[in-house]
Amino acid sequence: MGDWGDAQIPATAGTGVSEHRRVVVIGAGFAGIGLGIRLLQEGIDDFVVLEKAAEVGGTWEANTYPGIQCDIPSHLYSLSFMPNPGWSRTFSEGAEIWDYLRRCAREGGVTPHLRLGCEVLAAEWDEAEQRWVIETSKGPLSASVLIAATGGLSEPAIPDIPGLGSFGGALFHSARWDHEQEIRGKRVAVVGTGASAIQIVPQLQPEAEKLFVFQRTPPWVMPHRDRPIGRIERRLYQRFPLAQRLSRGWSYLLRESIVPALVGNPDRLKRLERIGRNHLRRQVPDPELRARLEPSYRLGCKRILPSNEWYPALQKPNVELISGGVSEFRREGPVGADGSLREVDVVVMATGFNVAHPEFGRRLKGPEGTLGETYESEGAQAYLGAAAAGFPNLFTLAGPNTGLGHTSIIYMIESQLNYVLDALRLIEQRKIGRFEVRTEVQRAYNTDLQRRLSGAVWESGGCANWYLDEHGRNVVIWPRQTWSFRSLTRRFDPSSYLLEPAVSATVSSTDATKASTSSASVSQEHISRTVPASSQT
Ligand code: NAP
Repeated sequence: MGDWGDAQIPATAGTGVSEHRRVVVIGAGFAGIGLGIRLLQEGIDDFVVLEKAAEVGGTWEANTYPGIQCDIPSHLYSLSFMPNPGWSRTFSEGAEIWDYLRRCAREGGVTPHLRLGCEVLAAEWDEAEQRWVIETSKGPLSASVLIAATGGLSEPAIPDIPGLGSFGGALFHSARWDHEQEIRGKRVAVVGTGASAIQIVPQLQPEAEKLFVFQRTPPWVMPHRDRPIGRIERRLYQRFPLAQRLSRGWSYLLRESIVPALVGNPDRLKRLERIGRNHLRRQVPDPELRARLEPSYRLGCKRILPSNEWYPALQKPNVELISGGVSEFRREGPVGADGSLREVDVVVMATGFNVAHPEFGRRLKGPEGTLGETYESEGAQAYLGAAAAGFPNLFTLAGPNTGLGHTSIIYMIESQLNYVLDALRLIEQRKIGRFEVRTEVQRAYNTDLQRRLSGAVWESGGCANWYLDEHGRNVVIWPRQTWSFRSLTRRFDPSSYLLEPAVSATVSSTDATKASTSSASVSQEHISRTVPASSQT
């Protein structure tokens, strides 16, 4: 147990809050569970993981729509320190990933640290006590370090379509599936043709009497290489873990090889576009329908979607594809762009998530305002997706610009876990009570990111995507190979932070001065190491 535990900081000091933790983690998805396991491996057990849902799993707990499956290979879409030789498919279904996460929590020892059904209502930085005071639905607590592992895709977005409230049937978001709602024999509309919709539609088609699919922009759809993993192959991975690591490594390298084209030369994506067009041609013989399904923007500008079932489902006699999206809702159902009404019993809004301005950011209040307000005024940004100026002792996992179109987000999360653990080590060694990323470091880092993103396919590809905020700034994507993120996050870099000694730490003033002078003296050197000179401000 470190010096930072309850022993050193009087639990009730100033705040009236009786429970204090060295680390409080918000969210029990991949990031929160992964962090819990790593904290325990590090010998840190003074932490809790707060989760508003009744179960762990994050996005895999929330998304239970029919057909849910991960589009990243199973061996890559798992924690490297919790390998699972038992994956039953090369691309896992949602339920299996959810099971895996529950097992990780159990076997990794995190379960006793979980507080389920515990929603964080507000968290405010207490400057005098150098701690976060957290209001939850199960009472208050405080934390020396707060870690928001709330995920980028956790707040469903339902577009404000005129008349939406007047619809008289059942309506729900893909990430809040209503399993009580009967689909068999019903007239159903699905709004959206993104990653969720293309998995949902083939599942609903055999059940629904009539299925209307409202498409605003056709996605690029590629042949899917998914297959079951047989007993012999699974046994191989069990007996020879290296074989699974090699498979993981191969998937990883293959996916990284597309990054130079996405970022530097989108024209080089034409070869992949040919594969997508051939897939469309093979699966959709009708030229009129094919024309409506063919994307008119560069592949990669939106997420590339693998499916062998999407196009066939759209051609079933009970399915109608409506181009142009939804113009309004009436009591009877949605109205297409052509003005014609589709009378339905059920509407599924597969319309994505609120990413640029998550509501949760308004619940985290630093010395000068909430994270949400900062994101509103400056656009969502952070240093290494993890630290934000103005928000001391806070890390965000999978924060701004850590998102990927091409590979597993878990690789990025694990990189950040290395960084956070190294930070906790150093903070304890130096008896630091307050750390905050330097504004100029964050600015230089983001200037460099935006420079790399300009001209990349997400901006130049000719589509509207949710990676760009209302100012046209890409707040989601990491624009380099992921190994460069791993390298930047290998060690916590104190020189990029303002460090202050712990108010209640038994640390001599000489030690504290040493900590802050050494940080100031190397700060410029660190900026030069992480950010090219051209983008330094
Ligand atoms: P999405 O990819 O953002 O798709 C949303 C869909 O809703 C788009 O087709 C969009 O059309 C449409 N839409 C939004 N507002 C609309 C409006 N007002 N009228 C008509 N259509 C509207 O959302 P998602 O499918 O939930 O996926 C989000 C992300 O979750 C993915 O990118 C991926 O990262 C993750 N995900 C992954 C998997 C997987 O691993 N297989 C599965 C599901 C989700 P436009 O394209 O015209 O905007």
